[in-house]
Amino acid sequence: MPYFRVIIIGAGLVGLTAAHILYQAGIDFVVLEKHETIVPTVGSVMTIWPQTSRVFQQLGRDEVLSPHLESLQSSMVISAEDAQQLDDANLPGSMEKNHGWGLRILLRTQFVGELYNSLPSTAKSRIYLGRQVEGVSMDETSVRVTCKDGVTEEGSLLIGADEIRSQTRLLMEALRQHKAPHDLDQRYQRPYMSTYRVLVSQIERLPGASMNVKCDSVHYGVTTQFLHSRKVSCFAIYEKLKVPSSERCRYTEADKLQMRQRWKHLMVMPGYSVGDLREANPGNVGLYDCEEGLVSKWYHKRIVLVGDAVRKLDPHTGMGYNEGVTDLVVLINGIRHMLHANQSNGSGIVGLEEILSEYERLRLSKMAMVMKVSRTFARMAGWLSWKDMVMAKYVQPYLGLSQLCVTHILGPMISKSPVVDWIQEPQLPPSAIEWTYRPLSHRDD
Ligand SMILES: Cc1cc2nc3c(=O)[nH]c(=O)nc-3n(C[C@H](O)[C@H](O)[C@H](O)COP(=O)(O)OP(=O)(O)OC[C@H]3O[C@@H](n4cnc5c(N)ncnc54)[C@H](O)[C@@H]3O)c2cc1C
Repeated sequence: MPYFRVIIIGAGLVGLTAAHILYQAGIDFVVLEKHETIVPTVGSVMTIWPQTSRVFQQLGRDEVLSPHLESLQSSMVISAEDAQQLDDANLPGSMEKNHGWGLRILLRTQFVGELYNSLPSTAKSRIYLGRQVEGVSMDETSVRVTCKDGVTEEGSLLIGADEIRSQTRLLMEALRQHKAPHDLDQRYQRPYMSTYRVLVSQIERLPGASMNVKCDSVHYGVTTQFLHSRKVSCFAIYEKLKVPSSERCRYTEADKLQMRQRWKHLMVMPGYSVGDLREANPGNVGLYDCEEGLVSKWYHKRIVLVGDAVRKLDPHTGMGYNEGVTDLVVLINGIRHMLHANQSNGSGIVGLEEILSEYERLRLSKMAMVMKVSRTFARMAGWLSWKDMVMAKYVQPYLGLSQLCVTHILGPMISKSPVVDWIQEPQLPPSAIEWTYRPLSHRDD
């Protein structure tokens, strides 16, 4: 393949996954991470959707992650006031029937650790910690980044996987608009808006509670989420903010205690209220604003964005990372095809902007549905109006809307997810809905 070097900003979940895919694609890369460590000290539980499980299987990551992953077997929706069951549609079970994999959960800290540790040593050696990217410049053939410590890196393409407050996004927009980053309009400085905040905590296992279950309790402006399995036991409280805000709020330990106290009477599942739960590790409680939003420009010349840098989903449905993986699959499939098409071109790479433009087009075309699903799930749980209450308490259970959603909305969304197209896959588990895309490894090797 012709020389092509990718610089990835951010060794979070999406950045590390990019390292795995690029390594397997045989594309040179370097990852720059501002923190001194890879694994965060605080972390919630991550839900892995079927389309991501399929990509993990292709990448051979399933074997490494399997010991930490557990499949949810059932889900229910209850009233947060009195634990009355409102909806017993078994979403994880239906998803498993439809796609061969259901919803699988694991601890974020273990997940990040395994993604890093399972990289081959030659790939690991290309991840640099303590490198905070502060500046970017470009010319016709390359892109250069400058870190806070003065170190520079040069490559052919810059991938910004640097989260909600992406510095790459800001620098890219500044270059595109020929402005300094601080002169950009507010919608570029803070493109996301929070309606809720969420408190997450791992808890001690509850004796007698069902295993591998997800329980959502619903109420006006507040909702709890409870995940209980052999390896993972955690809960979350989502609370509506007084006013939706694009400002970043940093919460203190006192804020966390007060929020827990405020909602100690809410039921998290039949027989247990928030007040009955015991933190497994009191130092590992997180409180975050739930930003939501979508960026309209995903690339500029040699810079491209993925993951939370380009779209932020409410955590309720656990789709954020999964969508980031889909970004990577579409993007790196395109880059790899471009490099193969350029194989005999001695005068450099042609077609990069076309690939990035196609990536933006393909991914943006899916985003209206993804954003809608994520927003609707959040609002059907923490009601913002009486209409949300009527839908969640009466219309949805009565008409069996959850089940219809799994088959007719999530079904097509998941089954039309792309797959790494140069890696043949082992046999897929049986599924009621057929996957639309298959690997094309016969095409170009
Ligand atoms: C409570 C909660 C629960 C969630 N649950 C789920 C779930 O169940 N399933 C799911 O799919 N998603 C879930 N999400 C969303 C998921 O966490 C994100 O979508 C995912 O982490 C995005 O990955 P990322 O790599 O884009 O960003 P991150 O994981 O945030 O990583 C970004 C990295 O970039 C680094 N960085 C930032 N700026 C710079 C810079 N200038 N230079 C160098 N490095 C930099 C950061 O230090 C960080 O390591 C949840 C989110 C929350 C808050």
